Amino acid sequence: MTRLPGPAGASAGRELKRLLRERQCALHREWALHVRHDIGDDDLLPARQHVEDALVQVTQALERAERGRYGLCVCCNRPIDFQRLLVHPAAARCWPCQQAAESGGEALAGEADLAH
Ligand SMILES: [Zn+2]
Repeated sequence: MTRLPGPAGASAGRELKRLLRERQCALHREWALHVRHDIGDDDLLPARQHVEDALVQVTQALERAERGRYGLCVCCNRPIDFQRLLVHPAAARCWPCQQAAESGGEALAGEADLAH
């Protein structure tokens, strides 16, 4: 699997952080639209929930970045595969842990606490 070494990894980390901030802004705007058009349409509720979930994940990823722990799996502490982060910059878990969490039916909520 591809992992970028030292300096290249650091600049790639900055790039991912920039992507995360952009994503956070976009999600904020999207969420604001949902709230403004709060028309009580049940069909739109899952979409709004999806935006909120994504916003939480991006925010937690940025918080991890602040603590210098961005890109580390919240479950096993191993570095998350770089290719996975490129596809999913807010990923909190490495792929094996993510799969285990999903197959185990474990909720994504509260994942930040697992890092301690
Ligand atoms: Zn893991």
